[in-house]
Amino acid sequence: MVDLKKLQEKTKKFVDERDWRKFQTVKELAANASVEANELLELFLWQDGEELDKKILGGKDKELINKIKNETADVFFSCLAIADQAGFDLGDAFLSKLGELDTRYDKKKVKGDPTKIPSQN
Ligand SMILES: [Mg+2]
Repeated sequence: MVDLKKLQEKTKKFVDERDWRKFQTVKELAANASVEANELLELFLWQDGEELDKKILGGKDKELINKIKNETADVFFSCLAIADQAGFDLGDAFLSKLGELDTRYDKKKVKGDPTKIPSQN
């Protein structure tokens, strides 16, 4: 298993070795995260979700799965870069958010109800 703190440190090193920090702001990194999330979404545009799952689940469409991996990693890189630039630990932030969602969406009340799936906002 990969240590999230190490990934955040690698992201910092990657940025600093290229001297890109001077071009970065949290706002620009957030915009980049949004662009990358939309590149991920574009892979599925105008396609039926259930048909896509048939291609994806079980590793049937390796080319599509590789594109999904690539764009998901781009989103993740942006999230790590935001955390680095803003000076917080992404793992801690995630665990805090998960705890908040666990409280907000009591599993006894929302189990099996798709209208209760959080949008994470
Ligand atoms: Mg991308």
